[in-house]
Amino acid sequence: EGKIVTIGEILVEIMATTLGHGFLEAQTLIGPFPSGAPAIFIDQVGKLGHPAAIVSAVGDDDFGTVNLERLKQDGVDVSAVAIHPGAATGSAFVRYRPDGGRDFVFNMRDSAAGRIAATPEAQAVLAEAGHLHVMGSGLPVPAVFGMVSASIPAIKARGGTVSFDPNIRVEMLRDPAGKAAFQSVLAATDLFLPSGEELSLFSGEADEGRAIAALLDAGVQEIVLKRGKAGASHFDRSGRTDMPGFVVEEIDPTGAGDSFGATFLVARRLDKSVEDCLRYANAAGARTVTVKGPMEGTSSFAELDAFIAATPVGAA
Ligand code: ADP
Repeated sequence: EGKIVTIGEILVEIMATTLGHGFLEAQTLIGPFPSGAPAIFIDQVGKLGHPAAIVSAVGDDDFGTVNLERLKQDGVDVSAVAIHPGAATGSAFVRYRPDGGRDFVFNMRDSAAGRIAATPEAQAVLAEAGHLHVMGSGLPVPAVFGMVSASIPAIKARGGTVSFDPNIRVEMLRDPAGKAAFQSVLAATDLFLPSGEELSLFSGEADEGRAIAALLDAGVQEIVLKRGKAGASHFDRSGRTDMPGFVVEEIDPTGAGDSFGATFLVARRLDKSVEDCLRYANAAGARTVTVKGPMEGTSSFAELDAFIAATPVGAA
């Protein structure tokens, strides 16, 4: 069967080692860590041994190299990652606050990620995709949305499938063009992976049960709602399955939703039961939050099996 393919930004993350507010004073930082939601997602797919490719762009610089080397090492096809000599790989500085919030400084303006384009290499990778995973964060880039909307019907026509993680900033839905882009992807989604308020934002229903019913009626086949440390719930036409999360100490939440989604998807494609898919995905999310760096906690199946055997689950 075909590769899982995603399209979107690659960047590095540089993290403060102490809690505090912002970057107004000098402090000890660690990184660069490979990052970008689509990159974390596809790295997790590769770690699980499933064929994987990403369509993206980086600068001709060390921040790009650090990402490309990691993705390659973890089994991801990076032939469709363009290297732009004239643009830098973007970076994000993050600092955690004592209340659990995060402060960011993004250096993404004019970065290579904004130059993702439908190159011949991108088209070759998309032409052989068995599954397209759409990340909301990339949809405002016109070339990304163009590739997504052109690929969806082609993939479906050859029996492939589509998943969608909105990972959205609310402003994106206030823009009518942005909202239309999101709705058009949602209409073609087989597996929808919202977290928190995204469920109500996309269904227009505040009540969880009504929100799920509305999305299933709109043609979404499966919905997996991510609930942070409480775990996750799966919904389809035959009903609902809840799975409590694992009890771990959260050190860095970035990347949990991406490694969760990748793991659920791969397990589902391997025909595992919904319960097993949720358990593996919760394990992947939980492992991610225990490690500093968004991509440092991605997992193989052997690592997930060992983690599941050794880690208690929370109250249902
Ligand atoms: P997102 O990162 O997309 O907002 P969540 O925060 O819900 O999504 O995290 C995704 C998944 O990662 C959760 O469904 C859960 O399985 C796991 N996870 C996240 N935070 C924790 C935590 N503190 N303890 C255990 N598991 C967690």
